[in-house]
Parts: sequence; structure tokens; C-alpha cells
Amino acid sequence: MDDGSAATAGRRLRDPRYDILFEPVRIGPVTARNRFYQVPHCNGGGYRDPSAAAEMRRVKSEGGWGVIFTEQVEIHHSSEITPFIELRIWDDEDLPALAKMADAMHSHGALAGIELAYSGANGPNLYTREVPLAPSHTPILTFTSDPVQARAMDKQDIRNLRHWHRLAYRRAKRAGYDILCLYGAHGFGIIQHFLSPRTNQRGDEYGGSLENRARLLRELISDARDEVGDSCAIAVRLSLDELAGDAGFSNSQLRDLVAMHADLPDLWDFAHGTWEACSGTSRFKPEAAQEDLIRGLKQLTSKPVVGVGRFTSPDQMVRQVRQGLMDFIGAARPSIADPFLPRKIDEGRIEDIRECIGCNICVTGDMTMSLSRCTQNSSFMEEWRKGWHPERIRPKQSDARVLVVGAGPAGLSAAHKLGLRGYEVALAEATAELGGRVSRESRLPGLNAWARVRDYRQGQIARMANVGVYRDSRLSADDILGFGFSHVAIATGARWRRDGVARHNLLPIAIDPAMPVFTPDDIMAGKLPAGVVAVYDDDHYYMGSVIAELLISKGCKVIFLTPSSRAAEWSFNTLEQAAIQARLLEAGADVRVTRGLASVESGAVTARCTYTGRLERLACDAVVMVTARLPEDGLYLALTERREEWAGHGIQSVKVIGDANAPAAIAWATYAGHRYAEELDAEAMGDALPFRREIARLKD
Ligand code: ADP
Ligand code: SF4
Repeated sequence: MDDGSAATAGRRLRDPRYDILFEPVRIGPVTARNRFYQVPHCNGGGYRDPSAAAEMRRVKSEGGWGVIFTEQVEIHHSSEITPFIELRIWDDEDLPALAKMADAMHSHGALAGIELAYSGANGPNLYTREVPLAPSHTPILTFTSDPVQARAMDKQDIRNLRHWHRLAYRRAKRAGYDILCLYGAHGFGIIQHFLSPRTNQRGDEYGGSLENRARLLRELISDARDEVGDSCAIAVRLSLDELAGDAGFSNSQLRDLVAMHADLPDLWDFAHGTWEACSGTSRFKPEAAQEDLIRGLKQLTSKPVVGVGRFTSPDQMVRQVRQGLMDFIGAARPSIADPFLPRKIDEGRIEDIRECIGCNICVTGDMTMSLSRCTQNSSFMEEWRKGWHPERIRPKQSDARVLVVGAGPAGLSAAHKLGLRGYEVALAEATAELGGRVSRESRLPGLNAWARVRDYRQGQIARMANVGVYRDSRLSADDILGFGFSHVAIATGARWRRDGVARHNLLPIAIDPAMPVFTPDDIMAGKLPAGVVAVYDDDHYYMGSVIAELLISKGCKVIFLTPSSRAAEWSFNTLEQAAIQARLLEAGADVRVTRGLASVESGAVTARCTYTGRLERLACDAVVMVTARLPEDGLYLALTERREEWAGHGIQSVKVIGDANAPAAIAWATYAGHRYAEELDAEAMGDALPFRREIARLKD
């Protein structure tokens, strides 16, 4: 197969030190072809977009994963965590979609795994309207604090729960799955709710001692063996530590549990206790962050062990296996960022690995009930909708030469994908450094890994003979008209506003020119304020808090003002909000929420309470405006004003992409660059939708 990578001139030899990663591993009655184990992960698709999710998994099979899992699959309608974005195995009607996904996983030789979930105290049942069931009477423990409680299960409920699981086991087998995994991690599954003394306050044989709290787990696994154990492996995914001390299901209790039930499942899959802790961003968690919690667990069992840790480095993976920490390298985000990660290691193409940057934009799809996207892999969840592939792209349709102006994430992505298509590409960058905002932002505290967005693309382009990179080349409209390229993509980025305009103030506010006002662009260019600094965050993502951290580290006293009720409100969707606010408070920032900026005076700012409108004067020496941005579209506008000259210079099209079109997060820019390359020379679609979708079948 031609995987389309410019770097691949035929298959290269695998480095023998990675051989261990490609050993087959037995899991009960089935055998995985290697140690690469894509742990269950959400994708914002679920039962609503089954073909999109299935095709995404197919690409991973092609990319060489040994085991590929579904996302959470809810086994019964009495427990549903979200109304839209998970899979379901409620009855036989769900089987075609599940079978399609299993087929896709099998397509290139992976084992198909299904994660069976009963959400218990985590399922508000907003769609099904059933009364939720849990070990004890418990408020529903969702992110959204739904006004719902779960009822304590009686013995008949537990018998029912076992029966519902049996139905799910049979159906999962019929749908073609090889590994059935019971979900009890991240605080989400009922198995964890039974195991934890916090959520299990029962006085019967299912509560109290650890042995009693594990009774349901034993019963569910023994039922599974009875139903499908001849041909399917039975796995369990458990929390490494609920992070509630001994009041919760702690790491030491987990160790006791594994010691007591060493060979109960065919495989132990361990993940951290809360989703926030397990899927920490690179700003807060390094690669292999769960190592201390997992160390020693494998020695308690003869069954294979899976662990996660945002593993992208093959050397790190080898170390995890050699040191006896785990048998399988579990990966969700690394498999999203690079579905071909195993194959690239196998083929000795380490430099082609597109490493996850740990930004959690993928998680935001789940949190916002929308199809997930990935900053690094812009084809994620577009495999079926748009036919995009992370490694392949259709060849060029003409010998047109293409000029890409600006080498930020949009320009780099466009140039990379156009290069893969075989076009002759020139990438012109005004500065000496490629990467645009990614390079600048990666120098801010905690954002170092973001430079991978640049490094991957820069590395790929450097090996493409058909892509020329021109640094220190700030182009004007005259330059571009004079060059005679057929197509021009303008990816010149955006700048932060200085006038206070964002969501709270849609119009500029009064600013005394005597007061020093900075923007993130100034800070990233090394121009720093001193003394007491008001950081005004009406952007609500990472930038405000990162700048506050930087200024505190430089000795400033920071007053952090935001119109929101929480610092960095949108980072709730990247699972970072609590960590950000804690870090600001711990660092000594004066965090003032529900405060809009009313005006800036000399030596003070006036803040406005977003509820009462009351004004408050806060003395400070400088202001940093983390507000809205404006596109750097001057070059594009200058070219469009001279549209009638294009044909005379051989120009067929000029398009503006990325932040220069409309500023957004980095993932939007890599997507825009990819899309530009995909659509160049494509047939006009007229009024047709630019993607495929699935519509629910109507019933009487
Ligand atoms: P995006 O996120 O859309 O990729 P960035 O702001 O990260 O945008 O990158 C834009 C890049 O474009 C920056 O590296 C900037 O130096 C470069 N640039 C801006 N104007 C010009 C120009 N006229 N000619 C060449 N490069 C430019
Ligand atoms: Fe990694 Fe970010 Fe992609 Fe998620 S969105 S897989 S965290 S690069």
C-alpha cells in the first residue's frame, strides 16, 4: 500500500530495540498481534454518527494497533451518561452499527474491543427518563450537577443488572467483538461505584469490606465467562486511585483487590481515578504520569496489564514493558493524533510520528456534544464525513504552482498537505522562524509540547523536494502578483486587540493613554509589564492564565479579572479549569471573577460586577488585555482589491485561511490548512453539504 508519506521510500527496517513492542500477547482466548492497545475513547460521534466513528477506528486498524476499542457502550436504557455521544447496546437495533465498527477494527488485523458501561451514579438519564440506579442513594455525579438522584439498588435490581449485562455480552459477541471490557474507571462506571466506600454505603453483602464491594465485579465477570468466555476475552478497566484518600477507592485498595482477584479477568486495564487526572493536559501532566500508581500491579497477577500515559515515545513504551509496568501500551490521545503510530515505529519511521501535544481539544468534542477534532490530526472524525485520511491524500489534479503565505499552523498544514498531493509549493514566512503562534505560544509556561504542531509539519516539509520554504520573506501584494503562482493561500494569522473588545465589551472601552496596556503579542515578544498588573481575561481559554503565571514568575503581582464566574471558563472543556484556577490561587494571583473591565485609567482599572453593574476601582501599574483578536488580513484585502489584475499574472485563486480568516484555537488553523489542500482543484459542490451525515431512520 502506498501510504502517501513523502518520507516513505519503501518500507524501512524496524529498530530492533522496538521489537518487544511487536510481540503478540495472549488475552484469554484471543491474541493481540502486538502491544499497541487503543483504550476506549470518546469521539463526540456515538450512536448519532456511527459510520464516522467506525471509519475512524478502521484507520487505526490500518495504522497497526493490536487492539482497538469502542468508546463507552451503554448496556441498558436505565443508565445513560449523555443523551447523544456514546454508543449503546440496548437491544438488537444497535447491533448493525456496532458490527460495522467491529468489522472496521478487524479490517487490518486488530482485535475488536467493546467497553460495556453502566453509569449508575453518573447517568442522569436525561433522554430515557428512567430513575437512575446506584449502590446507595446518591446525587448524580455529573459535570453538570443535574437535579437528579440515583436510587439505591435492592437485591432484585442487582439481579436485573446482572441479567442486563448477560444480554449485552451475548449481543457484543454477536456484533463480532473479541474483548469485552467492564468499565469501572474515571468515576464513571457502576463497578467503581460499588468498589468505592464513598458511593457504596450498603450494609448487605455488596457493601462494607473490600471483598463485599468487589462481589458485583466477581459476579459480572463470572457471568461473562459463562456467556461468552469460550471465544471472548473478559477485561476490566479500573481506577488507579479515586483521589479521595481511604474514603474512596484508593490505590492501596486497588492493590488489595488485584491481589485478592489476581486472575479473575483476562486482562486488567488501569486508568487514573478521575477523567481530569487521567487525561491531564501537557500543561499539567508529563508523559507517563501514572507510573507510580501502576508500578507493582502487574506483579500481582499473571494476566496482562494495560496502562496509559500519553505515550508517544517508543523508547518510553519499551521502558514501560521492560520494567514490568505493563504488557500493553494503552493509548487514546496518541492514537488520535497519530493513528499510524504503531506502523511508523514498525517501519522505522520514528521521525514521521505526529505526536499528541496534550491539549485536550479532542476532549472538548465530548464535553460540548460535538464531533471531536484534533489539533494534530485534522482528519480525525472526518475519515467518513469527508473522506480524509491522516496519511493519504488524493494526488494533484494539475501542474499548478501554489504559494502559501505565512507559516503558522494553517500555512504549515496547507503546505504539508499540498506537498503530499504533489503540488509545487512555496511557503513564504515573514520571520526567521516557522510555526507562527505555535512557536510563540510554546515558549509560555507549560505549553512547550505545542511546538510539536510545528515540528511535525516542518520535519515533513523539509524532506519534500516539491515544497520550498522561504524565511524572512514578508510578502506584499505587489510581490505576490509578480511571482505568477496559480493559487495563493493567505495564512497571515491574527493579532490580539488592545481596546478591551471581546464578549463583555463589544465596543472599545475608555483607556487613558498614560496607562501601559499590553497584549499577549507584546508579552510573547518579550515586552513585559512590572509591578501590579491587571490581567483581564475575556478570552476564557488558556492565554489569560498562562500570562498571569508568567508575570507572577517574573515578580509581578497579578489581579486576574474575568467576566466569567470561573477563571479560564472554556478550559472546563479541556478538563483543565479546576487545575488552572488552583494554580492561579496557589501562585498568589488575586482572582476576581464576574468582573468585566469598564475602563482603564492612569494607575487603575475600573471593574464592573457582571451581575449588579457595581463599579470598583483597582489600583495597578499596567493592564494586559486578553480579549478578542483581529485577523491580519491586510494582504488578502489588498489582493482582492486588485482582483482584475490576477488573470494577467496567472493567478486563478486567492484564499484566506486560518486565523487570518477568523481567529480560533490552533486546531481550527491546522484544519483550515488541511481543508485548503483537500479542496484545491476539487469540483465545486454548489449547494451540496461539504460532508456526509447520517440521518435517523423514520419509524411509524
Ligand atoms: P495561523 O494560526 O492562521 O496559522 P499564525 O499567526 O500562527 O496564523 O501564523 C501566521 C504567520 O504568517 C506568522 O508566522 C507571520 O509571521 C506570517 N506572516 C504574516 N504576514 C505575512 C506576510 N505578509 N508574508 C509572509 N508571512 C507573513
Ligand atoms: Fe492530542 Fe490535542 Fe489531538 Fe487530543 S486534540 S489527541 S490532546 S493533539
